[in-house]
Parts: sequence; structure tokens; C-alpha cells
Amino acid sequence: APATAMYEVAPEVKSFVEKTRHMLIDGQWVEAKRGQVFKVYNPANGEVIAHVAEGNAEDIDLAVKAARRAFDEGPWRRMTPSERGRLIWKLADLVEQHLEEFAQLETLDNGKPLTVSRVADVPLAVDLFRYMAGWATKIEGETIPLSVPGGTYLAYTLREPVGVVGQIIPWNFPLLMAAWKLGPALAAGCTVVLKPAEETPLSALRLGELILEAGFPPGVVNIVPGYGETAGAALSAHPDVDKVAFTGSTEVGKLIVKAAAGNLKKVTLELGGKSPNVVFKDADLSAAIEGAANAIFFNHGQCCVAGSRLFVEDDIYDEVVAGVGEIAKRIRVGEGFDPATQMGPLVSETQLRRVTGYLESGEKDGAKAVAGGHRVGDKGYFVAPTVLTDVTDDMKVVQEEIFGPVVTAMKFSDIREVSARANNTVYGLGAGIWTRDISKAHALAAEIKAGTVWINCYNVFDAALPFGGYKQSGWGREMGGAVLDAYTQTKSVCIKL
Ligand code: NAD
Repeated sequence: APATAMYEVAPEVKSFVEKTRHMLIDGQWVEAKRGQVFKVYNPANGEVIAHVAEGNAEDIDLAVKAARRAFDEGPWRRMTPSERGRLIWKLADLVEQHLEEFAQLETLDNGKPLTVSRVADVPLAVDLFRYMAGWATKIEGETIPLSVPGGTYLAYTLREPVGVVGQIIPWNFPLLMAAWKLGPALAAGCTVVLKPAEETPLSALRLGELILEAGFPPGVVNIVPGYGETAGAALSAHPDVDKVAFTGSTEVGKLIVKAAAGNLKKVTLELGGKSPNVVFKDADLSAAIEGAANAIFFNHGQCCVAGSRLFVEDDIYDEVVAGVGEIAKRIRVGEGFDPATQMGPLVSETQLRRVTGYLESGEKDGAKAVAGGHRVGDKGYFVAPTVLTDVTDDMKVVQEEIFGPVVTAMKFSDIREVSARANNTVYGLGAGIWTRDISKAHALAAEIKAGTVWINCYNVFDAALPFGGYKQSGWGREMGGAVLDAYTQTKSVCIKL
């Protein structure tokens, strides 16, 4: 059973969670209008760790008004791109100076191992802010030669910030998702109302303090914690929000689209996945086995790109499945603060029930767990890393996103077959290919309908690399230069000379 002892957290983390955390509106930390607060739980033991102001429609409305004022009246609007870039860079420096504090907050709130928060979540967020700080001065229009007869024209485009942006983020990478959303919006000159996930609002609220410390003008970033059906729904439906950016489930993504229809606000979506990971017999097998395990078990399988459908070529199926199973059994499951821990608890009781529900469904359908297949302990939300075999393409565990440490392993015999089966899902977020044959690798990469294809690697993220989904995995791209399209509008200016 996992350890449930309380590890010592840093004094600044302790004092941060001890006080009821308020919401950030117009540069001020304020209580919810209705005075409500909600509880935040430690997923390692189910205990309450913090109380947070619960935003509702009226708080969202105040935040949107503040963002509107900041957008229309300035001083944000009058700042030069260089000044905006410097503020974002300063925010990156501040987060980096507080790296350990953020890593601990993230582990306390989300459950992930502290060893991971320190080297992944926080540094990647810092990097994203730095990368986007550089873009602030490089968002450029074009001059365009016209072919209109009988006149001479000068035509050019301006790229303008889209305006007030609502951003709704999930609990799997709380700080990093806040960075993915805020970085490009601020670089483009938008103002923001951010709603963190109700499971994990703490790191975003701490980030809000640093946003003020960095010197962003009041109202440029507003942070309203609260539930999805209330605060989230109000933000996505708000008539004065120009764009909404969402990361979360496909189901809620569809609700966002409907809510956005009221004023036809722009929408970008980063949704679920059921990503295929394909291992050919000519692959470097030890790398492929390690990679297949990392593809599904990183962040406890709570990744939208989790490589949850493992396709292995016939001849090497037994060897690869045994290898991934061995790794699964060796993974140390425990509390995130324990330095020996390699996998922490799932984020919430709801997720625990969801994932164990899928394990039961798999068992009922005839799947066999060659590793894991069950909850770990009876306190906290731990699930054993699981490898399911004897599955068919139509089973629920193969079709639906589990969002837990559960991989289904299947055999294939040729590339045409595996490409069709890899695409046999409503999703299209990520994919992995393991082979030494570069022709085969490129040929399959071209066939797979997914926003990211990793060859001989998996889960490689970079602020410069666009990320997003085909099919029901989403609309638009985040990161890279591509994300700036989502936060700007193009204005054509045409002059008759
Ligand atoms: P969710 O989609 O319900 O929550 C994500 C965010 O959306 C949260 O901030 C939530 O408050 C908000 N939200 C919920 N309902 C809303 C509504 N009606 N209007 C506006 N905002 C709303 O995800 P969840 O319930 O936390 O997890 C359920 C499943 O979603 C997971 O098991 C997983 O399959 C998927 N998921 C995917 C990602 C991802 O990164 N793609 C992240 C988290 C969860």
C-alpha cells in the first residue's frame, strides 16, 4: 500500500494553503460575490488542503468587465510589443525563482511525483513563457500585391489581438496548462479571464500573485476559480468574451462550442485522445518497450496524448508485452512527496471511479490484466499501472479515453492494417511509431490522422512545436508560431494610390 505519511512541505507552501485563497479580478484579490468557497483535496489521502473562493456567473462578469477595460482603455493597449515581451519574460524569471515552491504546490494539489513537477511541469511552463515573450515583437502582417485593374493600390495586413479571451483549463498539468494559455494570449496583446480546474486551482492562483509582482496592469489577467457547470459555463457563454480557449474532455468541448454560438466567439479546443503507439519488429526493442511504458504511464496516464493503444507486430508481441508488463510492475506507486515514488495517485475520487470502472468493463469483456488491473490501497486514489491483453478493437477499453495508467496491447501483421486500425477512433491527438526503417516511419506518419506523430520517442514537448488535434481531439494548435493565429485577427488595409 502507498505511504500516506505527510511529508514536510516548504513553509511558503504551507502558508499559501493555510489562508483561504481569493480570486484575482482587476488587479485585486477579492472574495466571491456570493461569499462561497470550495475545498481542495490532497489526492494522496483525500484530506482537505485548502479553501478557495468559488466563482460564479457574477464573478465571471466582473472579471470580463475588468478584462474589457484593460483591453480597450490601457495601459496594456498602449504598451509596445517589447514592453509586453519583457513583462512575460519577467514572469518566467519569477516562476523560475519559485520553482521548488511551484513544484510542491503542484504535487500537493495534483498528486504527481515531486521529482516530475520539478523537472517537467515547472521548467516547461518557464520555457513556454520565455518562448512566447520572444514572439511579442514578431507578430507581423504582410504587404500584398493586388491585381485589380485600372488602379494602383497598396495593400497590407495588420495582425491585431483578438480581444478579451476566456481560458478554461484542466487538472492534469495545472501550471503548464495555465502557461500554454496565458503565454500566447499576452504575447498577442489580449486580456484574459482564466478559470483553473476545480480539482487543482492552487498553482494558477500563486501564478496570479507573480503576475501582479511582474507588473502586468490590472485587468490584463483575471483568475476566477470555480466549477465548470457554473463559472466555466458562464465564461464560455459570456457575450463580451471574444474568444474561448479550452482544454479538457471532448464532451465538455462540445458544450463550449454550443455556449460560444451565442455571440459566435472564436473557439479553440484541446480535447481527448486514444492515441496509437505502433511497434514494428525492426525497432530497437528496448527503446520501444521503455517508450511504450512511458507513453502510457507518464503522469499516471492522465495525459490527453497518452499512448493508450499499443499495437505490436506479431513476431515480437509477447516480448514487448512482457517488457511493458515488467516495467508496469516495477513502477513505485506512492505519495508524490516520497522521493522513491514514480507514480502518484489519480487526481480525484471521480477519476478513481472512472478508471476502475473501465478496468471492470475490460474484465467483463474478456480482457486480461497481465500487470495491474486494480486499485492500490484503500486511502487516496492510487491505481496500479495496468497492461490489458486479449482485447478487441471494438471493446470500450480500446475505444474510450480512460485517462488513467491503462494500456491495451494488440497484435498487427502489416502496415496497411495497422494504419487503418490506428485511425479507427473518433480522436486524433498523438501517435507513436517505433522502427529503424525510415521509409516505413515516414509512410505511416503521413497516414495517421493525428496532430503529433512521434517517431522513436514519445511525449516530447517543446514550446516551439505546435500541438493539437485532428477529428474530435480539437480545433486549432497551441504552442509554436501557430498558436498566435488563435489569438490574433487579420485586418486587410487597402489604399488606392
Ligand atoms: P472536464 O472537461 O469536465 O474539465 C476540464 C475543465 O472544464 C475544468 O476547468 C472544468 O471546470 C471545465 N468545465 C467542466 N464543465 C464545463 C462546462 N459545462 N462549461 C465550461 N467549462 C466546463 O474534464 P474532467 O471532468 O475533469 O475529466 C473528465 C475526462 O476529461 C477525463 O477522464 C479525460 O478523459 C478528459 N480530460 C482531458 C484532458 C485533456 O488534457 N485533454 C484533461 C482533463 C480531462
